[in-house]
Amino acid sequence: MTKAKIIDGRALAQKIRHDLALEVSAHKRETGKNIGLAVIYAGDDEPSKVYVANKIKACGEAGMKSYSYHFESGISEGPVIALIEALNTNPEVNGILVQLPLPEHLDAKKILSKIRSEKDVDGFHALNAGNLLLGNDCLAACTPSGCIELIESTGTVIEGKHAVVVGRSNIVGKPVSVLLLHKNATVTICHSKTENLSDYTRRADILVAAVGRPRFVIKDMVKSGAVVIDVGINRVDGKLCGDVDFEGVCEVASHISPVPGGAGPMTIAMLLKNTVKAAKLQREGKSN
Ligand code: NDP
Repeated sequence: MTKAKIIDGRALAQKIRHDLALEVSAHKRETGKNIGLAVIYAGDDEPSKVYVANKIKACGEAGMKSYSYHFESGISEGPVIALIEALNTNPEVNGILVQLPLPEHLDAKKILSKIRSEKDVDGFHALNAGNLLLGNDCLAACTPSGCIELIESTGTVIEGKHAVVVGRSNIVGKPVSVLLLHKNATVTICHSKTENLSDYTRRADILVAAVGRPRFVIKDMVKSGAVVIDVGINRVDGKLCGDVDFEGVCEVASHISPVPGGAGPMTIAMLLKNTVKAAKLQREGKSN
């Protein structure tokens, strides 16, 4: 087996964002209105600041308007919820996202549930998560949608393949498993209580790692010729790395997404895509 092809998430995201910019300007021409995304964050988490800045920059590049709201780390729930409720009814704002993690004393689940489902561009609202499971049109979670785009960009036909997802979080593992299932993959979901994990991962034609542990998936856990998507973002000695041991797995996989430059940029592209979709739904008077 030759060395794996690197799936260039930056280039793919760039193309998607370019196409979205055309849709955004068409929306402006037709309605005379901007498409707006509001980003709320709280506290001093340094990576969150970088993610928020990247999202705001991407909005500007796509011709969208962004609104950024920062709260001090000691903020109580009330003002955050009051802001969300104001944004829910603000016609200039088509999408709302709350950057996670929130400071620990805040109830993230409760706060996220206050975002109206038609403005929930992160796709975390129970209504969007439920509609995703049912196969209904909805605002799907961004990172999982990005994973599907990354896989399909390799020319891999997902239908009929065995996809193994390591991780079952509500924001990555579960929704990416559902999306793969909707694409007619046979899906296995693994987690921290899975026994003999390698027995599953070694049988994956498509392997998605969303574990949150640096270089957790090693060469011996990967089937020859597999497509490997690394969702993880870990910081080791000040450097970013994924959940996959990139160098080793490159020797067996057919395609692999790198960290950085894989799932990360695609998440932002999918966020913009959801915001454009939300604006369209709101314009048509449809709520999901
Ligand atoms: P969570 O911590 O919420 O979930 C991790 C999952 O991995 C859990 O389901 C857990 O199982 C499972 N797990 C942990 N240890 C093991 C193990 N030893 N064997 C098998 N499974 C295990 O993380 P997220 O899903 O939120 O994120 C996963 C990674 O993706 C993180 O590195 C995060 O930073 C990154 N991420 C990247 C994004 C991007 O834009 N690229 C967006 C979101 C996340 P259990 O349920 O049993 O605890």
